[in-house]
Amino acid sequence: MSSRVNESIGRAFALRLGLWYAALFVASAVTLSVATYALLARALAAQDHDALASMLSRYAVEYQDEGLNGLQTMITADAGQGRHERLLVRVMNQRTEVVYFTAPPGWGAFDLSWLDRPAARRSGWTTIDSPPDGAVFEVGTAMLDDGILVQVGRSSHVRDELLANFRARGLQVLALIAVAAVAGGFLITRAGLAPLRALESTVRSILRTGQLDARVPLTHSSDPLNELGTRVNEMLGRIQALVVGMRGALDNVAHDLRTPLTRFRNVAESALVAGNPESMREGLAHALEEADRVSATLTALMDISEAETGTMVLAREPVHLASVVDEAVSLYADEADDKAITLQSHVPSALQVVGDRTRLRQVCANLVENAVKYTERGGRIDIDAGPTGDGVSLTVRDTGIGIDPADIPHVWDRLYRADASRTTRGLGLGLSLVKAVVVAHGGRVDVASMPGQGSSFTVVLPASART
Ligand code: ADP
Repeated sequence: MSSRVNESIGRAFALRLGLWYAALFVASAVTLSVATYALLARALAAQDHDALASMLSRYAVEYQDEGLNGLQTMITADAGQGRHERLLVRVMNQRTEVVYFTAPPGWGAFDLSWLDRPAARRSGWTTIDSPPDGAVFEVGTAMLDDGILVQVGRSSHVRDELLANFRARGLQVLALIAVAAVAGGFLITRAGLAPLRALESTVRSILRTGQLDARVPLTHSSDPLNELGTRVNEMLGRIQALVVGMRGALDNVAHDLRTPLTRFRNVAESALVAGNPESMREGLAHALEEADRVSATLTALMDISEAETGTMVLAREPVHLASVVDEAVSLYADEADDKAITLQSHVPSALQVVGDRTRLRQVCANLVENAVKYTERGGRIDIDAGPTGDGVSLTVRDTGIGIDPADIPHVWDRLYRADASRTTRGLGLGLSLVKAVVVAHGGRVDVASMPGQGSSFTVVLPASART
């Protein structure tokens, strides 16, 4: 129902827009036609006038050269050649006797006494507005030397007919143009608005169903509306990934906190059941430890989720990698000393990357912590860094217990702890956080390890992270 309403609104809009286009188009066509008409009318009038003027001057010259006889011969020849058709020609001698007269058919009945008015008998032009056919009558008069009067006139009738014809045809053509413009404007607008309708229907379907997997149908053209559809689809893709990520993160947090919280509850419960102050004190101490673990787990899980869903805010700045590594090394130097582990950093002091200093420190600290944790007494840990083909790499290599090949693909998973490491403390979240933060920086992580021989964890930050 609503899509039908939508369709009819779209049609009304297309029609309105089409009508506007048509109105503009028709107005332009009318302006052009009126201008053409005015120019044509002027050109025809000028042509008629010029023809009369040239005839009059020919007769004047002929009279001057050959006298009245020559003039009469020329006029008779002109009449014989049909030059006087639709013309009025009158010649009068000195005694005001008409020696030659011809007028277009129908003009005989007309009172031509105005031709004898003083104004019409002076050399020059006279215009009479209302001859019998409603046309305009133009007469040119030449008073020749010896009182010979030559008058040549023409009715505008012929060109009026031509112009009337032009007007009638013009109106028909304009009517056709108007119809074509309205229909064409409607169809073109409707076709042009199709991508917008598709966009609107996609948004409507998302609003109705809440399903973010709907996408705007696209064409292969590069017009701006198709481009808009592409961008909207990209935006929908991102929103969908974000929503899915956030849902997943929420599920994970709920799931991952259940175990420590149950443990926390059990500790408190058994302390209460035991009832004596000693057990209660012990229970409270345990509960406190569990609370700290829950809090640390929650922080790590939130960090991982933020980094994975792209909502982690990275305060990117140029960072000297050596200083970040040194901070991590000094954090675990005592622990390494206690285990007689040689912990050495070989990071060039000038090596810089662009990244979030705090997060990069977290990455280094986690890798160094693991290396110290999983390396036995007297072992060795080396930290190297340097430019690679596509960025900067940082490697933490230890001679520790190593990782079973079956465990290697899982060490980056949340809460995954290989069997060999169960005896050491840990949340199983350190490497997940390392990977999430590095990926959020646009980088990648890698691990190589042999059980009993040691492990080598590598972080590669992209070239853009290099200064
Ligand atoms: P944990 O808190 O258990 O250290 P991590 O996510 O940091 O959690 O590591 C996941 C697992 O990967 C560890 O439990 C361990 O089995 C393995 N691991 C990580 N670092 C090393 C290492 N340097 N040497 C051997 N095993 C390691």
